[in-house]
Amino acid sequence: MKRFSLAVLPGDGIGPEVTAEAVKVLRAAADLFGYRIETREYAVGAAGVAESDDALPERTRAAVVEADAVLLGAVGHPDLAAAEGKRRPEAGLLALRKLLGAYANLRPVVVHSSLVHTSPLRPERLAGVNLLIVRELTGGLYYGEPRALERETAVNTLRYSAAEIERVARVAFRAAAERRGVLTSVDKANVLEVSQLWRETVTRIGAEEFPAVELEHLYVDFAAMRLVADPARIDVLLTENLFGDILSDEAAVLAGSLGLLPSASLGDGPGLFEPVHGSAPDIAGRGVANPIGAIASAAMLLRYGFRLPDAAAAVDQAVAAVLTAGARTADIARDGERALGTREIGDEVARLVLWGEAVQPVPGH
Ligand code: NAD
Repeated sequence: MKRFSLAVLPGDGIGPEVTAEAVKVLRAAADLFGYRIETREYAVGAAGVAESDDALPERTRAAVVEADAVLLGAVGHPDLAAAEGKRRPEAGLLALRKLLGAYANLRPVVVHSSLVHTSPLRPERLAGVNLLIVRELTGGLYYGEPRALERETAVNTLRYSAAEIERVARVAFRAAAERRGVLTSVDKANVLEVSQLWRETVTRIGAEEFPAVELEHLYVDFAAMRLVADPARIDVLLTENLFGDILSDEAAVLAGSLGLLPSASLGDGPGLFEPVHGSAPDIAGRGVANPIGAIASAAMLLRYGFRLPDAAAAVDQAVAAVLTAGARTADIARDGERALGTREIGDEVARLVLWGEAVQPVPGH
């Protein structure tokens, strides 16, 4: 029997509530597909500060690098909003990404047909939206040297090497090959030399290693427009750090609620899988948080972390079936619809993964 070790970092606020449901679903998938997942929990964020005055405690650091994959809930606590250095919960997450050498950030956006009402876009623009943004995460303007802030001038440096572009391009091409086979690479090659290198390098990797994937290049301004004008046309969108930061948040709005969105950060070490949302202190501890972002992150963990595409597909299908049946938490319920709790949604997804039964329709649908 195949065995996988999973480090679970529930973190703060709603993090423990949603990761519990994701683990429940992972266990159901393991039962169905006949493998074993050994999970152990470690502290991060404010929970890490409570444990050892460090948002990424030494015990957590040692465990994550040994695991096959890492599942994280969320970090952040109002009591530590002004904390500095290693006591800042969000610093724990940045340190974790760095420790794992995660250079590719994957953020899928799927608009489920029964949830178009939660999106600010008109329903006809949302039909068939199922896209994946691959963002370079460890280079570019956010890390380039020199950087300086003086009284009258400030400097940041945009620098990429061909090697940095190649490795993230391979992640995006591989993902496109497993999806609809279309990669849209986004740059600003009409203005920036770095973008010219980006475009040349992506073109070369595509021609040499992924000839079956269709490659197109878009300028970032046009890509920003396409994301709202015709998002269903995009399969995989690859871009550098700054452009990806902006475009992935723009794309997130399409789905309506932050609670639905998963992410993966992949690199040299074990992959890090986490919902896009934060610790949501306004709803923490009430059992009402939407666990779908965390559960969909577990599906990404199966696909990209453990390389179990059938199990990943079973989880994705169970999530879609639960939503089709009208089961939803308060953030995505329409006025007057009965909202279910975090645990009820997790139970229903796990049950469907295991048994593949039709979900009981929720009264009123
Ligand atoms: P947030 O994502 O925590 O919450 C924004 C809004 O979305 C809130 O109204 C919240 O109730 C709602 N929401 C978020 N997730 C939800 C879910 N699963 N179900 C239902 N509703 C959900 O962002 P914020 O309020 O700006 O930040 C709160 C804390 O989280 C801060 O400390 C921030 O630094 C931290 N944060 C952490 C991460 C992370 O861990 N990756 C990301 C963003 C923010």
